[in-house]
Amino acid sequence: MSAPLYPNYINGEWVEGPTFDNRNPARWDEVVGRFVNGTPEDVARAADAAQAALPGWAAMTGPARGALLFRVADILEKRFEEISADMTREEGKTLPEARAEVRRSINIFRYFAGEGARLGGIVAPSERDRVHMFAFRKPVGVCGLITPWNFPSAIPAWKLAPALICGNTVVLKPASAAPLSAWRLVEACHEAGIPKGVVNFVAGPGKALGEALVNAPPLRAVSFTGSCGVGAWLHEQASRRRLRIQLEMGGKNPTIVLADASFDLAVENVVNGAFFSTGQKCTATSRAIVEETIYDRFVEALVERTKKLRVGDGMQPGVDIGPCVDEAQMNTVLRYIEIGRRECGEPLCGGRRLAGPDFDCGWFVEPTIFAGVTQDMTIAREEIFGPVLAVMKARDLRHALEIANASEFGLSASLQTSNLSRMFEYIYGIEAGLVTVNLPSAGVEYQLPFGGTKDSSFGPKEQGPAAIEFYSDYKTVYVKY
Ligand code: ADP
Repeated sequence: MSAPLYPNYINGEWVEGPTFDNRNPARWDEVVGRFVNGTPEDVARAADAAQAALPGWAAMTGPARGALLFRVADILEKRFEEISADMTREEGKTLPEARAEVRRSINIFRYFAGEGARLGGIVAPSERDRVHMFAFRKPVGVCGLITPWNFPSAIPAWKLAPALICGNTVVLKPASAAPLSAWRLVEACHEAGIPKGVVNFVAGPGKALGEALVNAPPLRAVSFTGSCGVGAWLHEQASRRRLRIQLEMGGKNPTIVLADASFDLAVENVVNGAFFSTGQKCTATSRAIVEETIYDRFVEALVERTKKLRVGDGMQPGVDIGPCVDEAQMNTVLRYIEIGRRECGEPLCGGRRLAGPDFDCGWFVEPTIFAGVTQDMTIAREEIFGPVLAVMKARDLRHALEIANASEFGLSASLQTSNLSRMFEYIYGIEAGLVTVNLPSAGVEYQLPFGGTKDSSFGPKEQGPAAIEFYSDYKTVYVKY
């Protein structure tokens, strides 16, 4: 039986054409779905459809748009298990991780649906007699949303839901490695009765479609999550046209472990941050910076705990870590492991592609720990995006902050401590947009702004109230009465 066909969605219609395969990274011979390979012309048509749909959608009341987004959430909830399993099969993360992500997408839709009734503005007293003045929100216009494969549902959801509630129309371009989870959101938008042209979906080659999207005349804003190189290129294109833009890109996120930390919790948090979701989170811990008085004991415990992780097909119960998303990503990870070997010797655990009947048809890499890593080493500086952790030694918190901040990135960071004063020193001193204490560096919620600093991000933040700022504009009104 051939795999199901998932068409593109343009102007309320499902559009078929030549396809590419979406494969299961745990069993590469399994085709999860066939997706239509969109063309630049499809993107242009999608952007035109979004432009045509804009006045009607923007004219609806916020609560009416909200009612439709609530319906989207209900539809996703009804298919919760199916959508979660789809995600594990296309991206490789474990089924519990996929379920948590789908739950998050549902919550995101409900959160922003509720915002429909709260899209207020500003009323201020005028200097002038009998003048009433206020500013209210209006949509920005047609938004291009370009999303990655690592959170194939939550990231499209946290761009789509705020864009829609503010009255914008969108063209969504999902990552080719995992387009099905985003497609499921679009399917739910269709079934919920969101009018034609408001949501458009075009899968296909990133470069050609990205270029067509950012140059489509109706486009007013771009929201991108992905690699630094693509982000920089998009920014150049978008700035020539003065598009509103937000970029979420790489990270090299540290977890600092102080001697006063709750030891077992710190071990757990580092293992969780470094290896869960196969290290393929933008907020994953890739550097553990450990205070020297507990360094040896901590490294030993970390290795012992990591060796207990079970790697395998994320559909199987008891598996902790799934595969890398595809062969190219696995090869990147293996290449960095080789670089690590040359720079600082054999890893304390892991370091190889897994072999055997359960692994040979997937892209499985052992969770890998390098210890004694120093700042000059490549594996301490470059984003790897896989299950590889560099452990570094620090004299004290000040030294740890120096090491942590000596990075071009600044997405997330974590501190493990029980000392209040050190906690605040870190909160104010760490160069990161997203800071946790006694939690893993990864694991964000949708109610607060999300984004990094330095080379990790550009433009206004995503999620929470910040998303409403990005996806809306003010119109200011003065009335003499
Ligand atoms: P990753 O594959 O690590 O998520 P990419 O930046 O390559 O990072 O991809 C993120 C998204 O950007 C994907 O949807 C991809 O198809 C898209 N993309 C890739 N190249 C370009 C490009 N030149 N312009 C616009 N989008 C692109």
